[in-house]
Amino acid sequence: MAKRDYYEVLGVARNVSPEDLKRAYRKLAIQFHPDKNPGDKAAEEKFKELSEAYEVLSDPKKKQMYDQFGHAANAGAAGGGQGFGGFEGFGAGAGGFNDIFGDIFGDIFGQMGGGPRGGRRRRGGRPGNDIRTTVDITFEEAAFGTEKVITIPKTVACDTCEGSGAKPGTKPVTCSQCGGRGEVSFQQGFFAISQPCPRCAGSGEMIQDPCASCRGTGQTKKRTQISLKIPAGIDSGQKLKLTGEGEAGERGAMAGDLYVVVNILPHDFFTREDSDVICDVPITFTQAAIGSEIEVPTLEGKVTMKVPAGTQSHKIFRLKNKGITRLDQRGRGDQLVRVLIETPSKLSSEQKELLRKFDELGGDSSNPLHHRFFEKVKNFFG
Ligand SMILES: [Zn+2]
Ligand SMILES: [Zn+2]
Repeated sequence: MAKRDYYEVLGVARNVSPEDLKRAYRKLAIQFHPDKNPGDKAAEEKFKELSEAYEVLSDPKKKQMYDQFGHAANAGAAGGGQGFGGFEGFGAGAGGFNDIFGDIFGDIFGQMGGGPRGGRRRRGGRPGNDIRTTVDITFEEAAFGTEKVITIPKTVACDTCEGSGAKPGTKPVTCSQCGGRGEVSFQQGFFAISQPCPRCAGSGEMIQDPCASCRGTGQTKKRTQISLKIPAGIDSGQKLKLTGEGEAGERGAMAGDLYVVVNILPHDFFTREDSDVICDVPITFTQAAIGSEIEVPTLEGKVTMKVPAGTQSHKIFRLKNKGITRLDQRGRGDQLVRVLIETPSKLSSEQKELLRKFDELGGDSSNPLHHRFFEKVKNFFG
């Protein structure tokens, strides 16, 4: 949406006097203030537009730049640092200007019976932090799912005062400095600047008789046991989120979340690729040459697998549906068995003799790859 001219927004001439500018702004701002137009998006937009226009035109330096460069003066702010900048705060939502403008108009709306002020005040204090921790599980636990109990030290609500911070039987009282609003303001030029009340740290409440166990914070550190349901198919590095299991908030404020990162411990002979299980199985030269049935470990015990005669090393055999359950429960992966042919070592003289004899009988014809390679080499050298 194209930005409207600031003078047009405020309905004033370009040579408007500061007094007339202020008067025009005040009149329109009262008309479109969010407290007077609850839930009216158009009024809220209008109010933002007015506030922004007034912010610029009431500041001689910003006004001069606007007169010279128009809205481009602001667009340049991010890159060149030459514009007036600083509008982000206004765009952020009605809360953004309640901080600055609320106090100018608060008195007016108070008399007019406008909406309740201080609606931004949070219950209690600061919300709790998120926690991140790691849990180690075995390869099989990841494949089949498991339940784990983990112990983490975390901030929890105090048992004695149930998190209120007030001595049992007493209640927090309204803060005398901010009157329960949680913020205080001071005048700077035309603007009233708001900040969290230093006395109650923005909560709007004061504790007269603090709880002895937590000294009024409403919190205590505790080693807490949390039971985790880890779904079948989870992979290393994946996170589980436990909403509300993070640190407790101050005096009843919302708790943070707990993130548990899963780490799968290495297995003796299985590795994993997504939902496929990979297993290297060494076989003998003879098994590969004449074919055999071998025993292969799977997640659910041993199975017999046929190795056909003439199998080459590193050939991969696929055992359907012997892999890991997919996280989305849509079937299982496979097991991939890679056979590795082991060259015999430490042969007895009789074995050596038999192998020599074996070679004399077959020669290159039983080893086609070997035969073809040396044919190519021969041709290459002419
Ligand atoms: Zn307490
Ligand atoms: Zn206060």
